[in-house]
Amino acid sequence: MEVLSVIFFDLDGTLIDSNGVWVQIDLDFLSRRGLTPTTEYTDMVAHSIFPAAARFTRDYYGLSDSPEDIMAQWRDMAYNAYAHTIPLKPGARALLEGLSARGEPMALLTASLPELCRASLARHGLNRYFQGFFFAQEAGLEKRDPAVYPLAAERFGCSPDRCILLEDAPDNCAAASAAGFTVVGVYDDFYSPRWADVAAHSHRTVRSLEDLLPDLNGGAFSLTASPCTERRI
Ligand SMILES: [Mg+2]
Repeated sequence: MEVLSVIFFDLDGTLIDSNGVWVQIDLDFLSRRGLTPTTEYTDMVAHSIFPAAARFTRDYYGLSDSPEDIMAQWRDMAYNAYAHTIPLKPGARALLEGLSARGEPMALLTASLPELCRASLARHGLNRYFQGFFFAQEAGLEKRDPAVYPLAAERFGCSPDRCILLEDAPDNCAAASAAGFTVVGVYDDFYSPRWADVAAHSHRTVRSLEDLLPDLNGGAFSLTASPCTERRI
């Protein structure tokens, strides 16, 4: 049965304040080897699912580690933060609670490692809000690839033009828009230099999830249709 609409949430940088953790992990991982990240490197790995980022890291720095070893090291460095320290972004719990209370189907659409994602959701007690998770890694796709979005929509029985994505990464906003999703671009400090790109590829932008709370009285698409000075269309 097709559902009327599904609201997809990105995890890192949208629901949880984790992008800085990955910056630190990259710094620590490379500094152990006497290396420093370049802007090109940081931009590439920030947008990539784990296996692609690990292969890129090996090739970019000519490391002898296998991609599997690199992923294991990253996972170990990140797990403690996801399980114990990374906070929710402001408004995340209230928004999920409000949407859940009015029966909106919600799902997670993330490039994060499943075990890290699950650790963070469990820490914050968020599992109950989601009908399910779509892990881009398990589909073998990057979230900046528009092909990931029809697959996610299909998984939850919804056509792409009835799906909403809340997302902080500009390239992912662009890919989701190209795939027919309605996109709410969510500000995160990590992508502040590219905020204009987020705005250019989103139907609405918000500086904080708290900005969406006044729109909880309408239907799902009221999240994207509210008067907003930063709206593109
Ligand atoms: Mg993100």
